[in-house]
Amino acid sequence: MQDTSLWFPYAQMKHLEVNYEVETGEGPYIQFTNGMKLLDATCSWWCMIHGYKHPDITQAIHDQADKLAHVMLGGLKNRPAVDLANKLVEITPEGLNHVFFSDSGSVGMEVAMKMAVQFWQNQGRTQKYKMASLMRAYHGDTTGCMSVCDPEEGMHSLFSGLLPKHHFAPAPTASFTATAEEVTADIAELRKVFEQHHEEIAGFLVEPLLQAAGGLNMYSPIYLQEARKLCDEFEILFIFDEVATGFGRTGKLFAAEYAEVTPDIMVLSKGLTGGYVGHAATIATDRVFDAFWDDDAGKAFMHGPTFMGNPLACAVALKSIEVFERDDYLGKIAELNQLLSDELLNFKHDAVLDTRVLGATAVIEVKDAASLKGVQDFAAERGVWLRSFGRYLYTMPPYIITTEQLKQITDVMKVWFTEN
Ligand SMILES: *Cc1c(COP(=O)(O)O)cnc(C)c1O
Repeated sequence: MQDTSLWFPYAQMKHLEVNYEVETGEGPYIQFTNGMKLLDATCSWWCMIHGYKHPDITQAIHDQADKLAHVMLGGLKNRPAVDLANKLVEITPEGLNHVFFSDSGSVGMEVAMKMAVQFWQNQGRTQKYKMASLMRAYHGDTTGCMSVCDPEEGMHSLFSGLLPKHHFAPAPTASFTATAEEVTADIAELRKVFEQHHEEIAGFLVEPLLQAAGGLNMYSPIYLQEARKLCDEFEILFIFDEVATGFGRTGKLFAAEYAEVTPDIMVLSKGLTGGYVGHAATIATDRVFDAFWDDDAGKAFMHGPTFMGNPLACAVALKSIEVFERDDYLGKIAELNQLLSDELLNFKHDAVLDTRVLGATAVIEVKDAASLKGVQDFAAERGVWLRSFGRYLYTMPPYIITTEQLKQITDVMKVWFTEN
């Protein structure tokens, strides 16, 4: 009889067998109590961008813990929170100047949605309280976030009775390298939704360029440029969920940079702290912030998670960004991208529908999810921790992985098809 006191995520507990216990980790490897070690192909849900037990990051945790592990942000400031806010203003796209912290990606997105609604409320636009989102989107597991995830393919259709109804445009189909011509159909679909419903839409949410949990759908920066214009035309705030794409995953520090677009609100989490402590940032432009700036206390933003601005998390994030810049991670990501492109883009097999690569992200999309059954054990026997979902076999490695180690991962991904 298995021990069921620990309830695992996204799994039927009755059929789940978790046999291996992680003891530690080092660089791109997860190490188990039985002595086995595996290369982590997806860096713990895409957040451990420095790999495990990075000496500078763990040192930053020790140093900050010796000073101050936590203090409320209500009416008190702390140095790591102030410094991180300034650093994020400096490195995010021009114009994003005001940072609101919270404790996870989902809550960061909840904050963005509340901010968008109140932005309009504070200006007397009381009918603008709905969101526009994309099919194939994933924005988190809390109730507000579930309501803006793909309502059919997403994991949350079961809860549709609980969730508020928002407006959805089709997922963009024109690829990352598409021409302006090829993007027009996607934009026409978005325009239709805005034309019909703009009077009640407060914000349009996207995962820029890479719809991650929705199947690693990679789309054109031109879509973001055209969507920016539509948002301005129809008076809708443009909100970038860079929880997954932020901090290099698409090849630039932020996906927004490819399109040279500044969103009105941007959300960061996952890579923000290099995964070492949970935290998130919702960052707003002056225009958004100014709608709350008033002598009227009723226009204040009424939100404040217990752990927002946690000094430990902020100190870790500061160190994470310092290491990212110091060790030229964008250069490393370009090398990883080259290897992923060389190894996977031309991979052909009867079971395979498509292969895509962007930055340090690569996916083999299969025709039928059944052809990925057993891949996790197969990869583990070959030294790789690889977790597929649905029809997607993918890697989002930590950036400190060597190209030789990454090739071991892409080899396992390909051998799964050729040896089966
Ligand atoms: C993971 C993710 C979230 C949710 O973040 P949590 O920290 O798990 O709450 C939101 N948006 C995107 C794009 C994500 O990948």
